Amino acid sequence: MESVSSLGDVVVLGLGKTGIGVASYLVDLPPARVGSVTLYGGANSKEGEQTQELTRRGVRVVCGTEELEGSYDLAIASPGIPQKSAFYRSAEEHARRIVGEPEFAWSESPDRWVAITGTNGKTTTTMLATQLLKVGGLEAQAVGNVGTLATSCVAERTPNSWFVAELSSFQLAGVQRLHPRVACLLNVTPDHLEWHGSMDEYARAKERVFANLDEDDLAIVSDEDEWCRSAISRLEARGLRVCHVSVHCPPKAQNAAYVCDGRLMVRLDGVEHKLVRSENLSIRGDHNVQNALAASCIALELGVSEGAVSHGLLSFQPLGHRIEPCGCIDGVQYVNDSKATNVDSVEKALTAFVPGRVVVLLGGHDKGTDLSSLAHAVSARCKAAVCYGEAGPRIAEALRVADDGMGLVVEEAQHMAQAFECARALAGEGDVLLLSPACSSFDEFANYQQRGEEFKRLVAELAAREGAQ
Ligand code: ADP
Repeated sequence: MESVSSLGDVVVLGLGKTGIGVASYLVDLPPARVGSVTLYGGANSKEGEQTQELTRRGVRVVCGTEELEGSYDLAIASPGIPQKSAFYRSAEEHARRIVGEPEFAWSESPDRWVAITGTNGKTTTTMLATQLLKVGGLEAQAVGNVGTLATSCVAERTPNSWFVAELSSFQLAGVQRLHPRVACLLNVTPDHLEWHGSMDEYARAKERVFANLDEDDLAIVSDEDEWCRSAISRLEARGLRVCHVSVHCPPKAQNAAYVCDGRLMVRLDGVEHKLVRSENLSIRGDHNVQNALAASCIALELGVSEGAVSHGLLSFQPLGHRIEPCGCIDGVQYVNDSKATNVDSVEKALTAFVPGRVVVLLGGHDKGTDLSSLAHAVSARCKAAVCYGEAGPRIAEALRVADDGMGLVVEEAQHMAQAFECARALAGEGDVLLLSPACSSFDEFANYQQRGEEFKRLVAELAAREGAQ
């Protein structure tokens, strides 16, 4: 599996986890494989402990500029750097070739890759697919956006192991040769438009996951959104095997994953596989049924048995911050879905609960997304909504317009802790108090994890208070 060609003089762009991981990998390669390693940290980067350590190991580190000097055989870009940025363009001028990190990892170790993308559900599907492969007796490792840099796993990788890679639109935008054995597109709904420029470009970036598939591979694509359906027709026009995934309407295609009488079903090359009932999954909501169908297709395609897939599906538990149950106090269920940072993920999360019993916390950093569809879903499925943070007033207004006096209680609060107190007063026995904010967290928190942890802390504090009474 080991690649022997020399990479020549390599420049790495970015001083985050990706840049540091890639530079570390490169300097550990034998001299025959790499000439020199340079890292440009970017305009805001500064020298510090990390750069000193890299320098000590033989990396030439340049901070505080995005204008490259010199010439390179290869540039490897971190995903936060848009292709249209001056930094990226400067690298294009100074390097013979420029690739993103996952593509670089793939080129170093190109066998047995699964690639998963979509606006929502990537991490859940990646972790679940990895688990199903393992339960089926295969070696598998989740890499990419899940938090484990693929490049950092290449050196230790064993020859038969599978890389199950979660890939974001940023990582896919520049894909040229990355060729997974199975690639999956879960959904395409508006997100990250400020990075990509338009919905068209965002969707096109996601579709790059299929760019190099051939007729022996499998493309797994949702049949339930407009962008994915148009991708399906382009893939079928290329003569590829495409598995259509639909939770709500069984597709007629040769390759399909669907639900029939409450049971998950996968048809591959005309052969039907009967899996578990959706009500027996621990991950809840229609969107998680979709994730489970996609992950099952991956595992079955790679040779895992029907029994092992079913076993793996039943044992998979919700991941942190994704419809994560975090306690029941006075008959109210508290649920942390802090990872729901866009409107579609909230609409899907609401399908996991009994209509009319949800008090939802919405708000955070305003990404300027259109709110009408979210507002109608909240009006139809929730009892009350407490809107907070920067986006709070705009969401509250959209909810009032959509509900038009139908009975949804809409309250506003300044920050999440205040919203929590307000929501708690509105929730009664049998209700669900759900943090599924539809926004990123940056107006109040460092990231969605910190927001979710704070929510759980508020729940624990409340439990202690109630218990003490
Ligand atoms: P990602 O890695 O793409 O952000 P996650 O698996 O971390 O996806 O889930 C993020 C949020 O998106 C969850 O909080 C959940 O509410 C929602 N979600 C999960 N799967 C899907 C899906 N298939 N379709 C729509 N929303 C989903």
